[in-house]
Amino acid sequence: MSSFSNLQLAPALARAVAEMGYESMTPIQAQAIPVVLTGQDVMGAAQTGTGKTAAFSLPLLQRLLKHENPSTSPARHPVRALVLLPTRELADQVAQQVKLYAKYTQLRSAVVFGGMDMKPQTLELKRGVEVLVATPGRLLDHIEAKNVVLNQVEYVVLDEADRMLDIGFLPDLQRILSFLPKQRTTLLFSATFSPEIKRLAGSYLQNPITIEVARPNETASTVSQHFYSVNDDDKRRALKQLVKENGITQAFVFVNSKLGCARLARSLERDGLKTTALHGDKSQDERLKALDAFKRGEVDLLVCTDVAARGLDIKDVPAVFNFDVPFNAEDYVHRIGRTGRAGASGLAISFVSGSDQRLVADIEKLIKKKVELEAVEYEEDRPRGRINTGRRAWGEDDPRDVLDAPTEHRPAEREREGRSASRYAPRHSAPKDPFFDKPYEPGEASEEKPSWEVSARPTARAISSNIKPKRKVAALFKTQEPA
Ligand code: AMP
Repeated sequence: MSSFSNLQLAPALARAVAEMGYESMTPIQAQAIPVVLTGQDVMGAAQTGTGKTAAFSLPLLQRLLKHENPSTSPARHPVRALVLLPTRELADQVAQQVKLYAKYTQLRSAVVFGGMDMKPQTLELKRGVEVLVATPGRLLDHIEAKNVVLNQVEYVVLDEADRMLDIGFLPDLQRILSFLPKQRTTLLFSATFSPEIKRLAGSYLQNPITIEVARPNETASTVSQHFYSVNDDDKRRALKQLVKENGITQAFVFVNSKLGCARLARSLERDGLKTTALHGDKSQDERLKALDAFKRGEVDLLVCTDVAARGLDIKDVPAVFNFDVPFNAEDYVHRIGRTGRAGASGLAISFVSGSDQRLVADIEKLIKKKVELEAVEYEEDRPRGRINTGRRAWGEDDPRDVLDAPTEHRPAEREREGRSASRYAPRHSAPKDPFFDKPYEPGEASEEKPSWEVSARPTARAISSNIKPKRKVAALFKTQEPA
């Protein structure tokens, strides 16, 4: 890996980087920093956890150094760089990193996001900041209130752009971009280059340099993935069983709806498990407290919606449960990316019910792996010597196969959440998965129409022929599949 010293960063930035303890550049940094330093537009395929914040912040700060000044006049500190993110937690996290990188410069940075009082943000904006990190909704509020002027922006970063579109921020982004000077550098980062993202890039980027890096393989290749056939009514029981069986001390538990999230957290709490919920209906303060409690190890299970899946930097969560199979296969990859980070081994357990066939088929396609269903062997059933087969096999009719209506899954939902961490070593071994060593390759699905042009959900299709019910609990993916 290349060293930061090759970049000839300004001493103030080099000092901050050295203090962070970074020894060498990550692949996205090695590729993106030199390009951003030249002022070219960039379209980067990189997920959180790859070091992409430094990949865009350091060169931006370097280029902004020509504007640094000690003046107290707000007019001398106009917004020069705007970083847009989909969720409050991500915005907060990126802003904290920017502050650390800029700490030995005179460049000012601030963050604005919803769920917080506008007043302190307004005061900060009015004092003047060179780097503004924001979520789209709140930024528009400040623009409308004339708390901030964006006519001197030279750089704009659309971070986690795919998620911003998923959440329905496209109109807000379009409005915000209309306030910016045409002459600027635009950097777009996205986990994938879907048709929507390409279209966005086509409209707002000029001759961008495309940079793609591998998914962080130390994350996914160390995650042992298991899929259990569990009917909806048994999921709570299965969760408790598997937590116990695997000696899991801390885990994320992902659910698809805010309502489901709150309900599950309450019921696990009643069962005596130290649980907290993280979802979009919680106040910002409650969400930060929940994350903190989890980080400090005061909470064992963090029940969360997908908003929590993206990006928040909490290391070493030993296990992730997909209490519900995510509606979007890419969310599966993001969710399980919360465990097995930094080379630690992790365990990802998904509960698959009868209505999840299409979703599992999508996951198989994305991860290029066959999914085999296992059955949970419940402790209370053991004395009778019976192995619970997971209730039923794929394809059997079940009147309960009604897909729960997602309350926050798709658009309209704004400013979402973040993620968390912990201790323990799972008992499952971590198979090496060559797929995760490769850059993301979109499948044919990526040629589908952009979501804003497709109103209906895709129709259910037949379950993959790869999915076969299994009777015994056994480790999955023991053998290597060609990617
Ligand atoms: P990001 O993908 O930007 O959210 O970064 C994920 C984590 O990687 C953060 O905790 C960063 O502080 C850390 N990080 C970023 N760049 C490096 C580097 N070159 N070496 C080590 N850690 C890094």
